[in-house]
Amino acid sequence: MKTVTVLGATGSVGGSTLDLIERAPDQFEVLALTANCDVARLAEAAKRTRAKCAVVADESCYPALKDALAGTDTEAAAGAAAVCDAARMGAEWTMGAIVGCAGLKPVMAAAEGGRTVALANKEALVSAGNVMLHAVRESGATLLPVDSEHNAIFQCLDFARPERIARILLTASGGPFRDTPLEAMAAITPEQAVAHPNWSMGAKISVDSATMMNKGLELIEAFHLFPVAPSQLEVLVHRQSVVHSMVEYVDGSTLAQLGTADMRTPIAHALAWPDRMPTPGARLDLAAVGRLDFAAPDPVRFPALALARQALEAGGARPAILNAANEVAVAAFLARRVSFLEIAAIVADTLVRYDPSDPETLDAVLAIDAEARRIAEERVKDCVA
Ligand code: NAD
Ligand code: MG
Repeated sequence: MKTVTVLGATGSVGGSTLDLIERAPDQFEVLALTANCDVARLAEAAKRTRAKCAVVADESCYPALKDALAGTDTEAAAGAAAVCDAARMGAEWTMGAIVGCAGLKPVMAAAEGGRTVALANKEALVSAGNVMLHAVRESGATLLPVDSEHNAIFQCLDFARPERIARILLTASGGPFRDTPLEAMAAITPEQAVAHPNWSMGAKISVDSATMMNKGLELIEAFHLFPVAPSQLEVLVHRQSVVHSMVEYVDGSTLAQLGTADMRTPIAHALAWPDRMPTPGARLDLAAVGRLDFAAPDPVRFPALALARQALEAGGARPAILNAANEVAVAAFLARRVSFLEIAAIVADTLVRYDPSDPETLDAVLAIDAEARRIAEERVKDCVA
């Protein structure tokens, strides 16, 4: 029996993780499940998995959670600190699937426990980069990438010979607007932006895929996870989402991982690693797919990609500011306060307006995140005015 905790259990990745765990009840024991405020889904999942505890980050949801869990053995708790306490319960395997920098403290709490952390929550690693990697090294934790591209790279990468890696090729679907006429992009609605052609995901990452900021965040994520320089990381638009990423070696060999667009495959890889486990879902039928297309990304259509590349190359606090401003801008877009094209403009302006020094502690990262959010929010108000 492996003890597991799922941070962000009510989301898209959290739900796929629970689906796998529930199919193998004799192999996994659930310690904690957490969510922001989706009490009904959290309580249902806690009952089905007989979780030891269920936590909502939003304290106002506590009475409802306590009611929903009455008569069960699952303990209810609430508040951001309680989410971190859940991450510290000592699970052998923790899924970090909270969306945004809100997941940073809980993921750090889990990493400090020195066990295995399966990371979907890319914003945490983008913001805290070196601070998180330092905590992982200090505690001896194992960090396993769940993001499909990074999981693909992890499967193809020869970690024993980093000097033999030539390039990492991150594939990107290009999102729903890869073929939209440029003049039509200003009028894109939240409904259009969250309707991803290949993957079913939470709203925030779906908008990030539409702007390609998602791939920008993934460039930074890859830099932290793998032993390569920024110049060795490239993005390739691949509309079928069959090749999940590739590693090219100095001898000209390029290794790829392929599969259907189902997050249960990379999640299962992290859940069973270094073993493998069966997953449900369709198998890849390459004859039915027929063709695979690849193209360089369009820098005019996707300015977010260049912003992320610059933040990666500059390092220091830039990735944390990029991420915080993007979270604010995406939330404002989803609330119909700003237009689709203003997302990248808000991020760019926030990066111009704020340039603090390199954060060396978690508190310093969180302070930069908070200040960048404040500045980005001011910029959103300018758009609205
Ligand atoms: P989602 O919106 O579906 O779920 C987010 C989860 O986080 C929910 O359980 C929610 O309750 C919780 N949450 C939100 N705000 C919180 C807060 N302030 N405090 C505590 N918990 C909070 O998101 P998702 O699509 O599952 O994505 C989760 C993470 O995984 C993101 O970082 C995303 O970039 C990454 N990711 C997702 C996919 C995918 O296919 N969905 C693929 C790769 C990476
Ligand atoms: Mg991805």
